[in-house]
Amino acid sequence: MLASRTDRLASRLEGRLDAAALLRGDAVSAGYAQDAGGSGIRPSLVLRPKNTEEVSLILAAANEIGQPLVIQGGRTGLSGGARPRAGEVSLSLERLTAIGEIDRAAQTVIAGAGTPLQAVQQAASDVDLSFGVDIGARGTATIGGNIATNAGGIRVLRYGMTRAQVTGLEVVLADGTVLSSLKGLAKDNAGYDLNPLFIGSEGTLGVVTRACLKLHPKPRIERVAFLALPSLAAAQALLQQLRSELAGLLSAFEVIFPAVYAGTVAHCRIAPPVAIGAGLYALVEIHGQAPDQDNARFEAALAAALDDGLASDVVLSSSQREFAALWALRDGVSDYIFSLDNLCGFDIAVPLARMQDFIAGAASAVRFADPEASVFVFGHLGDGNLHYIVRSRQAHAMAEAVYGQIAAIGGSISAEHGIGTEKIKWLGFSRSEAEITTMRRLKATFDPKHILNPGRVFAEAPAEMQVEWAS
Ligand SMILES: Cc1cc2nc3c(=O)[nH]c(=O)nc-3n(C[C@H](O)[C@H](O)[C@H](O)COP(=O)(O)OP(=O)(O)OC[C@H]3O[C@@H](n4cnc5c(N)ncnc54)[C@H](O)[C@@H]3O)c2cc1C
Repeated sequence: MLASRTDRLASRLEGRLDAAALLRGDAVSAGYAQDAGGSGIRPSLVLRPKNTEEVSLILAAANEIGQPLVIQGGRTGLSGGARPRAGEVSLSLERLTAIGEIDRAAQTVIAGAGTPLQAVQQAASDVDLSFGVDIGARGTATIGGNIATNAGGIRVLRYGMTRAQVTGLEVVLADGTVLSSLKGLAKDNAGYDLNPLFIGSEGTLGVVTRACLKLHPKPRIERVAFLALPSLAAAQALLQQLRSELAGLLSAFEVIFPAVYAGTVAHCRIAPPVAIGAGLYALVEIHGQAPDQDNARFEAALAAALDDGLASDVVLSSSQREFAALWALRDGVSDYIFSLDNLCGFDIAVPLARMQDFIAGAASAVRFADPEASVFVFGHLGDGNLHYIVRSRQAHAMAEAVYGQIAAIGGSISAEHGIGTEKIKWLGFSRSEAEITTMRRLKATFDPKHILNPGRVFAEAPAEMQVEWAS
């Protein structure tokens, strides 16, 4: 009997990688079959290289054999990109956790792809700097996963998405070629810049092994306010007002709709900072360098919001403990949402000027498709990014209802979580045929045998682009 592709790959690699790099059979724990969005197929082989050379060795062998791989970081993704499918071998970057010395002059650091986001945040903080990306899954999500998904999170308003924090990448291509561009130069126009292609490519174009990351001065003052607001219109007006009054200070503007606020404080057993019953809730944060002046500006801006009727109540953190407690409430939103069943989650971007139209249009489209459905909304208002969650057993009908509204107002079906395996059939609601064809051409150029995360972002390659896999 012919050995399977997976067996051939394993025997090709045995003896060339250390024992910890190959997990087979019972040694493969159930965790490798899952990401934060659900379970896939438990892979029969997990590869855990310890450096870039080993990643290159693995990819060259897998490419030759035609063995499809699923690339895994912290497996906190919410679109199914890291969730194994039948016949795939897992390539986990979890052992690439080295953090280099921080270059204080350039304010950069080189980190291995498997480094947890929180470890990079801590390393920066230890030398009085900070990293611009923060998400609820910071303890488990990895830098490689953040780059592959172009993660957003709570401070995009101030620092931009992960793309804006990357000054260099080391990537291994499907055939094992190592592309290394880790100089960390602020300016480098020597030919095409290849790095941005890999950021947000969800592991379909190459495997990120190391990244040179931009750091920022650590804020000398961080304060957060929790506000009760009368309506979404008031939140939008307040955002506009704070953007000008707190220019250079505003670092987050998060919103929580009433059902999510009430559910979160009950689920997490938190004393609500402001009374339940408002039209909307917002968490507003500043990062500044001049504590006295910045405090005064923040307090004046919040007082003006109350005077102007844009907010009905405000609680302002006055200690590190209160600051952490208000953010814990925001992080608790995910815990509450994940505790519910029959969830259809939509991570959408909406032009700010059309947000009210979207909320009204989506509510009636959802109700029309399933009168029993309930809707939970929260998100990063400052970036026009809402997490629009519908509780319904009719997932397909809900997606049609929500994405139909998104297409109508020129929004995006994926603001930050990516397409993965779960949103493939909806990609055309956000991208034109010409864009999707160009993406496919890039895929065919970088990974002609489709061994890297096949079936993510778009369905398998069309017949004319497929290269026959060896049996
Ligand atoms: C509680 C919670 C809160 C979250 N909040 C946010 C948020 O605010 N903003 C946000 O953007 N996301 C958020 N997420 C989603 C998730 O944390 C991010 O998508 C994160 O960037 C994924 O990182 P990871 O290491 O877990 O990647 P994984 O889940 O392992 O992988 C994600 C994708 O990246 C690919 N990949 C992973 N590593 C590499 C690599 N080294 N090279 C190439 N491809 C790779 C995978 O194949 C997959 O397609 C949240 C998730 C949870 C559970």
